[in-house]
Amino acid sequence: MSINTRIEYFKSLKDFSTLGIGGKARQFVSIRTIEEMGEIRKYVSKENIPFWILGKGSNSLFDDRGFDGLVILNKIDFIEFDRGKLHVGAGTSFSLIGVKMARMGWGGLEFASGIPGSVGGAIYMNAGASGVETCDHLTAVGYIDEAGNYVEKIKDELFFAYRTSSFHEQKMIIVSGRFELEKKEEAREKQRKIIEYRMATQPYGEKTAGCIFRNLDGKSVGALIEICGLKGKRIGGAEVSTLHGNFIVNRGDATAQDVLDLATYVEEKVREKTGKELEIEVRKIPYQLGKNV
Ligand SMILES: Cc1cc2nc3c(=O)[nH]c(=O)nc-3n(C[C@H](O)[C@H](O)[C@H](O)COP(=O)(O)OP(=O)(O)OC[C@H]3O[C@@H](n4cnc5c(N)ncnc54)[C@H](O)[C@@H]3O)c2cc1C
Repeated sequence: MSINTRIEYFKSLKDFSTLGIGGKARQFVSIRTIEEMGEIRKYVSKENIPFWILGKGSNSLFDDRGFDGLVILNKIDFIEFDRGKLHVGAGTSFSLIGVKMARMGWGGLEFASGIPGSVGGAIYMNAGASGVETCDHLTAVGYIDEAGNYVEKIKDELFFAYRTSSFHEQKMIIVSGRFELEKKEEAREKQRKIIEYRMATQPYGEKTAGCIFRNLDGKSVGALIEICGLKGKRIGGAEVSTLHGNFIVNRGDATAQDVLDLATYVEEKVREKTGKELEIEVRKIPYQLGKNV
């Protein structure tokens, strides 16, 4: 059966973003294997359909109008592990990998246990926490190129920096990642402490997309927002978390516009009071690609 027959129409994106915000995708498809991803990539090229790759939607803000194209949900989920060498599908839960590896006494990805994204999203964003980034233990990435072919590149052939990677510049679809871990008895203990700390300091279990702004020169923007007295500030259904200043929480009925208005308000107040310029970290997905939100 050809892959395009699985495409669904006018699917609500709210359920695919941890913020719980977004209109409907004109087209939507769930992809489970690397072969299927190659096939759908060829299909969108042939039909000239604008597309957006979605992992767990934990760093994504969809537009209130939705997305005028095809949202490709990456569900390529597999784990292969042999003596420190980990090969995972890009749709696999990054937090699950973090817990699983630490439980088995392998260190390096303990920080991942607190990041509710997919492996592909973590590689794309070079997600990080507790002084460690995704690229630190990454050895190679498998992706589908623009022609729909599978390519694997070692880390040295790719670029990673604070919350960015080569994949921001290229239209590649990450389908797998390879990591190298080290045997570490205290891995589980370290991973547990990371989760405990996060539960106490971040609005876990609430509707957020993680940190709204990028940190500034390694310094916490959450603290800066707190100093400016902005915790608890609310616009519509969006609120600056009272627990962590760099999180915006959807209090139930927030729109994407509420989140953007609140982020702009925070940016302006921080600029006024400290002279510092904040930069959005969350990915804003425009209704139409190539056009402003
Ligand atoms: C409670 C909470 C805590 C968080 N804590 C942290 C933290 O400590 N550190 C941190 O760095 N982040 C954190 N985040 C943000 C988020 O979890 C990470 O950025 C994560 O890596 C995003 O993964 P995702 O699968 O959800 O990506 P999505 O939100 O689905 O997508 C994000 C971007 O990646 C692209 N993308 C996703 N998958 C692929 C793929 N397979 N191929 C190509 N492009 C792809 C998307 O197109 C989009 O541009 C947190 C979020 C929440 C909600």
